[in-house]
Amino acid sequence: MLVSLIEILKLAEERKCAVGAFNTPNMECVNAVVTAAEKLSVPVILMHAEIHEDVSKLEKIGPVLVQAANSARVPVCAHLDHCEHLEYVARGLELGFTGVMYDGSTLPFEENLANTRKVVSLVKGENCGVEAELGAMPPREGGLDAGAPVYTDPEEAVLFCKETGINALAPSFGTAHGIYKSKPVLDLDLVRIISERTGLPLVMHGGSGVSPEDYRIGIANGLRKINYYSYMSKAGTAAVKDLLAEKDVVFFHDLALAAEKAMEANAETALRIFAGL
Ligand SMILES: [Zn+2]
Repeated sequence: MLVSLIEILKLAEERKCAVGAFNTPNMECVNAVVTAAEKLSVPVILMHAEIHEDVSKLEKIGPVLVQAANSARVPVCAHLDHCEHLEYVARGLELGFTGVMYDGSTLPFEENLANTRKVVSLVKGENCGVEAELGAMPPREGGLDAGAPVYTDPEEAVLFCKETGINALAPSFGTAHGIYKSKPVLDLDLVRIISERTGLPLVMHGGSGVSPEDYRIGIANGLRKINYYSYMSKAGTAAVKDLLAEKDVVFFHDLALAAEKAMEANAETALRIFAGL
C-alpha cells in the first residue's frame, strides 16, 4: 500500500530499524525490490532520482512506482531522490509521489535552507514528506568516483531542521555515492549526536559497501532510512554477464529476468540487515 515518507519513517522509529530505499529506474528494479520486501514483510521505499532522467523519464516511471506501491502487500513510499529543481518536485507531486528529497547540499548554507523551505511549503497539505541534505557526499547518484565528504556540523543541522520543518535529514558522516574504492571510514558518533540534537529520522546515502556492523551501529544511533542501489545494480549486471558467458541468449527479456532475480536476492540481503532480521 502507498504510504508517505512520514508514515514509513514512523514505522521505522517504532521498530528501531531502518527502511531500505532503492533507486528503481526501471521495471526490473521495481519488481526486484517490491518482491524482496513482500517476502520479508518489511516496508520499503522506491525512489526515482532526478539524475536518472536519462534512464527513465519521470512522467513514465513515476506512475509505475506509485502503482507498484499501491498494489504492494507491504507499506511502500514512492520517493523522489536528489531533486535539485523545485519544478521537478512539483512534477513529482502531480504524479502522486509521497516523499521527496531536496538536495541543496552543494549550495551555500543559507541558499540550501531557503530552497528547502520552499520545498516544505510546496508539499504542505499533500500526503508527502520532505528529506533534505546538509554537508556533502560526492559524487552525485550514478557516479563512480568517491571524493572526500564534507561532514555535517551538528549546530548547523539543528538550525537547518528547525528553520525548514523537514521530516528527515541526510547528514554527511563519511559515506559516498557509488562504488567505494577503499573502505569508507564512517563517523557514526556524529550520527548519534545529530539524531539526539535534531530529534529527526536520519538518512544514510551511499549505503552500498558499508559493513553489516556499521549498518547496525548506524541504525542504533538513529539512521531510519538507508539509500542503497549501486551494489544491487551491480549484482544485476553480474548475472547478465554470467548468463551470456554460459549460453547464447537471443531474447533481451531473458537477460532482464536474470538481472531482476539477482537484484531481488541482493535487495533481500540488504533489507534483512536494515530491518534487523
Ligand atoms: Zn544519495
